Amino acid sequence: MKTGQQYRDSLKDGRTVYIDGKQVEDVTTHPAFCNAIDTVARMYDFSSSPQNERLMTCQNTDEDRINRIWQLPKSYNDLVERRKALEAWGQLHAGFFGRSPDHVASCIAGMYMGRDIFNAYDPKRAQALGDYYHYASSNDIFLSYVIINPQGELPASGETAGRRRLAASIVDQDSSGIVINGAKMLASGGVMAHEVLVTCIQPLPVGDEALAFSAVVPMNAPGLRILSRKSYETGTGSVFDYPMSSRFDENDAVLVFENVSIPWERVFIIDNREMCQKQFMATPAHVYQNYQAMIRLKTKLLFLVGLAHRTTEINCTARFPQVREILGQLAAEVGMLDAMVAGMEAKGSEVGPYFIPDRHSLYAAQTLTQQLYPRFIEQLRNLAGGGVIMLPSSIKDFDNPEIMKWINESQSSPIVDAHDRVKFFKLMWDAIGSEFGSRHTQYEMFYAGASYVPKNHSFRTFDWNGSATRVDTMLASY
Ligand SMILES: Cc1cc2nc3c(=O)[nH]c(=O)nc-3n(C[C@H](O)[C@H](O)[C@H](O)COP(=O)(O)OP(=O)(O)OC[C@H]3O[C@@H](n4cnc5c(N)ncnc54)[C@H](O)[C@@H]3O)c2cc1C
Repeated sequence: MKTGQQYRDSLKDGRTVYIDGKQVEDVTTHPAFCNAIDTVARMYDFSSSPQNERLMTCQNTDEDRINRIWQLPKSYNDLVERRKALEAWGQLHAGFFGRSPDHVASCIAGMYMGRDIFNAYDPKRAQALGDYYHYASSNDIFLSYVIINPQGELPASGETAGRRRLAASIVDQDSSGIVINGAKMLASGGVMAHEVLVTCIQPLPVGDEALAFSAVVPMNAPGLRILSRKSYETGTGSVFDYPMSSRFDENDAVLVFENVSIPWERVFIIDNREMCQKQFMATPAHVYQNYQAMIRLKTKLLFLVGLAHRTTEINCTARFPQVREILGQLAAEVGMLDAMVAGMEAKGSEVGPYFIPDRHSLYAAQTLTQQLYPRFIEQLRNLAGGGVIMLPSSIKDFDNPEIMKWINESQSSPIVDAHDRVKFFKLMWDAIGSEFGSRHTQYEMFYAGASYVPKNHSFRTFDWNGSATRVDTMLASY
């Protein structure tokens, strides 16, 4: 089990990260990333703490225990135990780390559970995947993934033929492995991960075989450039002013591969468009990674609904029936997701020796929550009114007795003093309205693909025959 300090030390590995026009020497001390890295370190301290052993770890071999994020559930009970571990971990960041280490671990574990599919494709690549699962689980590796091509990438054939490619593709291979060149979007958590799974989940047309690979690359691989977006952590001033941005900005980065060599032991698919789809859809990987996402989102919504309720307490608005209706609606929506997660588990099924959450229940939840999140945030804004804006400019105002006097005069509530009122509304704003909060709306709307993507998964996995039978039965009854 990895500790927080081991995790921090492991990131001092010479990775090439760029931000604000400069290369970063050490991500663990850089003001754009250090607090978020501390948050992940706290997660590793939590999972490696002896007092959390039962909650956070499971038996791997007779001697070894591993982080439950790598667990391969064999029963409903295993699945529930693992979910409890994910919930406990998610609470350390209130569900705001979308790609915390449990996300891609779930994907790799899902691929491993479906390794028969890889075996049928190529036993050597299946062996590489199996070995990698064992390596990653026993070393508690933090993986990010880039499974989408940059916007603007167009098929190699047809009228766009001959155009310069943006997306990472195989440019060479020999007895030692493959070489890739090009870009991928969008490595959330990539700056603070150990390794990245590079592949393509988007269906690829004939002719795009060079883009159809699946492989794992360490973040310090020679030739890998990590181009960070703007940091929301930098310049936040104090945790008091930006309690979320300053600690939970997982970062997103475009990855550019410049002739990056990947040894065969880390290559799971090569030149195979169909297999790129199958690694997610024909194995439990896609269900398993997105089941993790729903557990995380549940944790987040439970926190956000708490913010909504506290807002109405502080502003004494809970007495209005219309406000209670909004709270009731939000509570119902969180309750729906809670029930859907429980439903995915209860309707789960055995796939070989493993127990997998129900596919359609998962896609139903993803389709609905993708639409739900922006509405949910809108209702929090609705409840907050100007309270999230009528705030002192920064914590420094509290140090000036003159200003403090007027803050006390203007910020009051029957249930909290001025300091705690300001503290609360700064938290509220950071969660729903700051640049960090706004990025989260974009994240929840897109991390699983644009809206037509989960809808198509829902369409694909629904029991249409069952519905057709009901229609036929009714038609035959008169
Ligand atoms: C905050 C954030 C974090 C992310 N983190 C990761 C990550 O860690 N790893 C990773 O791999 N990816 C990540 N992504 C990328 C994410 O997977 C993509 O944003 C998502 O798949 C949508 O692809 P796109 O952004 O290219 O949007 P597009 O596919 O270009 O969609 C944008 C809009 O264009 C229209 N459109 C485009 N194509 C079609 C079509 N075929 N049919 C109908 N309408 C269409 C729709 O209106 C759609 O809403 C992240 C994205 C965000 C916003």
